[in-house]
Amino acid sequence: MSPEPIDAATIAADVQSGRRTARAVAEASLARIATTEPAIHAFLGVTADRALAAADAIDDRRANGEPLGPLAGVPIAWKDNLVCAGEIATAGSRLLEPFRAPYSATVLERLEAAGAVLIGRTNLDEFGMGSTTENSAFGPTRNPVDPTLVPGGSSGGSAAAVAALDCPLAIGTDTGGSVRQPAAFCGVTGIKPTYGRVSRYGLIAYASSLDCVGAIARNAADLRLWLRAVEGPDPADATSLRRGEAKPETADVPRDDLTGLRVGLPWQLNGPGIDEEVSAAVRTAATELERLGATVEECSLAAVAHAVPTYYLVATAEASSNLARYDGVRYGQRRDGRRLEAMMAATRSHGFGHEVQLRVLLGTFALRAGYHEELYGRATRIRDLLRREFETAFASYDVLLSPTSPVPPFPLGSRLDDPLAMYLCDALTVPANLAGIPALSLPCGSTATGRPIGLQCMAAHGNDDALLRVGELFQRQTDHHRRTADLAGDVDGAVDGNPPEAPTA
Ligand code: GLN
Repeated sequence: MSPEPIDAATIAADVQSGRRTARAVAEASLARIATTEPAIHAFLGVTADRALAAADAIDDRRANGEPLGPLAGVPIAWKDNLVCAGEIATAGSRLLEPFRAPYSATVLERLEAAGAVLIGRTNLDEFGMGSTTENSAFGPTRNPVDPTLVPGGSSGGSAAAVAALDCPLAIGTDTGGSVRQPAAFCGVTGIKPTYGRVSRYGLIAYASSLDCVGAIARNAADLRLWLRAVEGPDPADATSLRRGEAKPETADVPRDDLTGLRVGLPWQLNGPGIDEEVSAAVRTAATELERLGATVEECSLAAVAHAVPTYYLVATAEASSNLARYDGVRYGQRRDGRRLEAMMAATRSHGFGHEVQLRVLLGTFALRAGYHEELYGRATRIRDLLRREFETAFASYDVLLSPTSPVPPFPLGSRLDDPLAMYLCDALTVPANLAGIPALSLPCGSTATGRPIGLQCMAAHGNDDALLRVGELFQRQTDHHRRTADLAGDVDGAVDGNPPEAPTA
């Protein structure tokens, strides 16, 4: 029997009022993880002791009449590329073993300060490089909706943990779609905030000009609760937005219905190359928005045609530089070699998986002397163009809509030998990262065979609150997010074939 899906807001309210103890909530979450993990493998490590100690501390505070935080007692999982003091951090790679973090990422520190109970590290594609979680060095995660399917990636463990009802909220990171696409694949809700809205301090970097910390939950209202708790400037992250740079909720977005909301459908993100059932579900969602009072119009974003090559150039170039620090001297594993270079080469060849090596090579190629301007320089100019096109579009529209992924979730292993097909899966999500704007994925239906479909909504830079408001109003008037949650509830041991590899810690 699967448990009732309870959202984060309800848990926090119940713990604050004394209807539930944080201890009971944490124990239920840990028990659910024990039941679902053999089939799903969403976690790389469950931090039961940390969770129970945090829960007891919250219950003690309440007993002493002390105030509780807005996320009091809410079990939260975090993607294992964010460091948490005293815990192992792998980034999905063997290379970092046996690294244990000496400090906590700002986002996790702020969550704990808000009363959240951190329950475990979730699985991911190595260093965030992938779209299915199959590039994890610790075995793939499976989709709780149907364990023969991929959960998406790279935050596949976080999306699967929420979909499997292990916890109501999980932290992910999104460099090119890694929060939104797994949320879409698993039938849950995910946000990539405006670049810089949430501190990246303590995030194991992939591509620093694109990396964003985001979150996955069962609904947009919980994502707002999360954003409130963690957003804001951080002296430890020079790219975090200063106060005033992120717009507060504006009057131009309606509070109770969507009357007057101007929605644009960029045809380049809604036409060619998109699965028919996915397109149909997004068109239906657009009609639902119209019924709620929005005006919907087709529009154009020409530069998105170049988004995938631009993204893979920028991302791999930045990755080749970010990953240079894993040299066998400072972190994790070391392989022997007769000379320094041989030691480094052996360490990196053994420690990094195939996809990571491929990308480091691609990125190094893009940055090599004499070609920098021709490749990286050109990508930067396309990026500026894309940013300006979005600015122009947002002068006419509050929200731009598209599918989150051009295809619904596919079977494990089915795309592994075609990297290009895999990269094209990111076509609809990478534009928001290149432009630094906020984007949300909302469940909007499923295919005839029950595979979840996600609707992507994008808003102007700093307009995260308005975006979440649209998501909340949509979810108040529709029940797609509840239906997919039901689909995913019943995963207890229901998997045929080989069980995924056991968690390592
Ligand atoms: N799939 C994309 C990539 O492999 C996005 C990954 C991400 O957002 N971390 O780069």
